[in-house]
Amino acid sequence: MARILVIEDEPDLQKILDYNLRKAGHAVFQALRGQDGLEQAQRMKPDLVLLDIMLPDLQGTEICKHLKADPETRGIPVIMLTAKGEEIDRVLGFELGADDYVVKPFSVRELILRIQVILRRQEPVTEQGVIHFGCLKIDPEAHQAWVDGEEVRLTLTEFRLLLTLYERRNRVQSRITLLEDVWGMNTEAETRTVDTHVKRLREKLGNAEAYIETVRGAGYRFIGNPPETRL
Ligand code: CA
Repeated sequence: MARILVIEDEPDLQKILDYNLRKAGHAVFQALRGQDGLEQAQRMKPDLVLLDIMLPDLQGTEICKHLKADPETRGIPVIMLTAKGEEIDRVLGFELGADDYVVKPFSVRELILRIQVILRRQEPVTEQGVIHFGCLKIDPEAHQAWVDGEEVRLTLTEFRLLLTLYERRNRVQSRITLLEDVWGMNTEAETRTVDTHVKRLREKLGNAEAYIETVRGAGYRFIGNPPETRL
């Protein structure tokens, strides 16, 4: 599952890509204009960008240049959607640094295969052990978490709580179990501590807050699958 940002001004093509990418298990974010697409990419740092060249406001080539010049976004793979053959040399040249391209009209199946190749290539280098779940990203080793690309500052306990719930997703965790495993306590006395921390964790998680469900009379559960993401 990857978070893919599609910057493309043709609504029909957006629709086709949205449908097929989601079918392939990815979360899809859309931008119909160049400036908006660039800002979204900078903000959310998607796992991959599909970038049309001909956009009404800001050219795809400019967006690619911006992304590749900024250390914050340089690592995000970009696949260009080109309309004309003659653009290809420029797109793949050092000038732009795009990772791949397809020429319109392209086969969606081929595009998805290329996306998979690029994502696989990315994985071991930059994101070893990092968990992606919908808009949530967790790095268990660095003790860091991000929601929509923005780092969420968690205390050690909140981080442990999040990771424990995530690792046992789809299974209800009682307050006592959480106290034992997160806090290392084996007393029933302070189960309210769990509620307080879950509440605070949820507040910090923003858009990812709904991933942690309260199961009445039982405890808490991290949901099994991320909901489909749409703008
Ligand atoms: Ca276009």
